Amino acid sequence: MTDTPSDAISSSVSPSASPSVSPSASPSLTLLGLGAMGTAFARAWLAVGYSLTVWNRTPSRAEALIAEGARPAASAAEAVAENGLVVTCLLDDASVGAALADADLTGKDLVDLTTGTPSEARTRAAWAEARGARFLSGGIMAVPPMIGAPEAGGYVLYSGSQDLFETHRTTLAPPAGTRFVGGNPGHAALQDVALLSGMYGMIAGAAHAFALVRGEKDISPAEFAPLLAQWVAAMSTMIPQIGEQLESGDYESGVTSGLAMQVAGIKTLLSTAQDQNVSPELLTSVFDLMRRRAETGGGREGFAGMVDLLG
Ligand code: NDP
Repeated sequence: MTDTPSDAISSSVSPSASPSVSPSASPSLTLLGLGAMGTAFARAWLAVGYSLTVWNRTPSRAEALIAEGARPAASAAEAVAENGLVVTCLLDDASVGAALADADLTGKDLVDLTTGTPSEARTRAAWAEARGARFLSGGIMAVPPMIGAPEAGGYVLYSGSQDLFETHRTTLAPPAGTRFVGGNPGHAALQDVALLSGMYGMIAGAAHAFALVRGEKDISPAEFAPLLAQWVAAMSTMIPQIGEQLESGDYESGVTSGLAMQVAGIKTLLSTAQDQNVSPELLTSVFDLMRRRAETGGGREGFAGMVDLLG
C-alpha cells in the first residue's frame, strides 16, 4: 500500500501538552493494557482530569489506577462499550486480537499503540475497519518515564485514519507529543522500526568505543562517556545530508570526507581494535559496505551510496 501525496508526513511534533481540563469538558476514553507503558499513559490522562476506563487481562494491575480515579471494567468488551475512543497498549499484535475478540467495535475509534510490524498494522487496520471502526496505529518513541513529561521529548508516531487523528489529537496529547505520518496504517510502525534501527547502530558503535578504552587504567569509561556522546551528536548532523542526497540522487555534492579517504582509515581502526584485544564484529559489516561502495565508483561519495547496497 502506498500513500497518496496528501498522505505526506505532517509537520512537526506537537508538544506533549498538559491541558488543564475543566470537568464539564473532560474527554473520556478507554485504555486496554496496563503494563509499564499502558500504566504510564493512564497516569498521564488521569493527571489532566480525563475520564478513563481501564481494563487489563490480569485485574490486579488495574487496582492502583482505580484508586487514582480510573473507572474499572469487568471485561475488554465492557471497557470498549464505555467510550467512543479506545486505546490499546498491549504486548503484541496477537494480544490485541485476543483482547478485542468479543468487543463490538461498531462506530469506535481504535488507536493501537502496541508495537508491531507495518504489515501487522495494515492487517489490523483492515480488521478494525471491517468491524466498523476507524483505526489509527501508533508507534511510541519513548520509555515509560518519558510519558507525561513533555520536557523529556517523547512522542508517538501515528498513521492511519487522519480523520480519527484530527478528532482526537488533543485527547491523545497529554502522555506524549503527537505526530501524524500519513494515511498508510503501516507507516508509523515502519518509521518506529527505522528509528530504532538507527539507535541500535549508534549503540553498536558506542559499545565498540567503550571496549577500546575500558582496559586502560588512565581512561575512565564514565569520563569518556560525555566525549563519546558529544561526538556522536556532532556526527549525527550528517544525517540530513544523506536524506537530501538520497532524494536528489547526487551523492557527491557537498561531501567533504569521501568514502575513499574513510576506507583508507579502516586499517587504523582494525589494527587498534586488535591491539586492544577488541573484537571488530560490530563494525565489520559497515566497513565491508564502505569498501564495496568505494571500489565500485563511490569513492567521492559520503554514506548515501551504502543505502543503495542495502536494498
Ligand atoms: P508489559 O509487558 O509491561 O505489558 C504487556 C501488557 O500486555 C500487559 O497489560 C499484559 O497483560 C498485556 N497482554 C499480554 N498478552 C496479552 C494477551 N494475550 N491478552 C491480553 N493482554 C495481554 O509491556 P509494556 O506496557 O511495556 O509495553 C506495551 C506496548 O508498548 C508494547 O507493544 C511495547 O513494545 C510498547 N512499548 C513499550 C516501551 C517500553 O519501554 N516499555 C517503549 C515503546 C513501546 P497482563 O498484565 O495480564 O500480563
